[in-house]
Amino acid sequence: DKDVADLGLRTERGDESVDISHPERVVFPEDGITKGDVAAYYRAVAAHLLPELVNRPLSLIRCPDGAAGTCFFQKHHASKLGDRVGAIPIEEKGGDREDYLYVDGLPAVMQLVQMNTLEFHPWGARIDDPEHPDRIVFDLDPGAGVGWKDIVAAAREIRSRLREAGLESFVRLSGGKGVHVVVPLDRRADWDETKAFCGAFARAMAAQAPERYLAVASKAKRPGRIFIDWLRNGRGATSVTNWSLRARPGAPVAMPIRWDELGRTRSGADYTLARALRRAQTLKADPWEGIATLKQGLPRFGE
Ligand code: ATP
Ligand code: MN
Ligand code: MN
Repeated sequence: DKDVADLGLRTERGDESVDISHPERVVFPEDGITKGDVAAYYRAVAAHLLPELVNRPLSLIRCPDGAAGTCFFQKHHASKLGDRVGAIPIEEKGGDREDYLYVDGLPAVMQLVQMNTLEFHPWGARIDDPEHPDRIVFDLDPGAGVGWKDIVAAAREIRSRLREAGLESFVRLSGGKGVHVVVPLDRRADWDETKAFCGAFARAMAAQAPERYLAVASKAKRPGRIFIDWLRNGRGATSVTNWSLRARPGAPVAMPIRWDELGRTRSGADYTLARALRRAQTLKADPWEGIATLKQGLPRFGE
């Protein structure tokens, strides 16, 4: 596990050196949450946030006019983001190399918060080898009329099917409507191989229970069913990270939980900023304990 000192939680030039301008500015109007509150939140949960965030190509959702205003999705580096924010050149589809951005610790996170970042969406790969994913995500997107119990059941079914394929998984409330089932990988497979596995996995589930599941992104076919969104597992795709706020009413948080906590949840947005702060203070162990040391590969790539 990474030493917290490596993450800038305790450094000479730590996050305290990052100035947050207009801390009084309201960011979540319905909740009375200010930019200063957002900065204080990220500082308070940093030890939980950073392990799944650092040293990965990262996209941002920035909301200069608050969560209720126009937000934009940013995937490229820009020097105005701050001098602690890293740049990593990555080849684009057309063949050109462009600078993506990454953070290596809390000071960079605070600079991004100063630049009105609300959400953090990393790749499932690290900057030392962006071509080989170390995380895959099955994103469960419920159609109209699907109940929370059905989403919980779907997540558990994915977990047990992954186990049959030799893969342990972890679960996160998205902060929105659904859940994400996350699988750590040993980085032996590339993106194409990984995406092919994820698509085949989702199609197999949908084929066995077509009344419950869908493996294609068709909104029209979704009512009453859960779309097993496997499309985040392609090169360049991102997912919201653990402990990230969402730019939605109520200031919900994408929250990693233990599998045995899932039955007690009531929605994908169970954790608000305030509840997440309390959880950060009282958590005794990392709900995703073990993810950093688990060595597992896709079935075809295992021994
Ligand atoms: P829910 O549970 O409500 O589905 P979610 O996090 O799974 O929440 P979204 O917030 O809709 O769903 O995220 C959709 C995905 O698309 C995320 O993986 C995000 O990283 C990515 N994304 C969001 N906005 C953009 C954008 N403008 N361009 C490219 N990718 C985006
Ligand atoms: Mn989703
Ligand atoms: Mn989705």
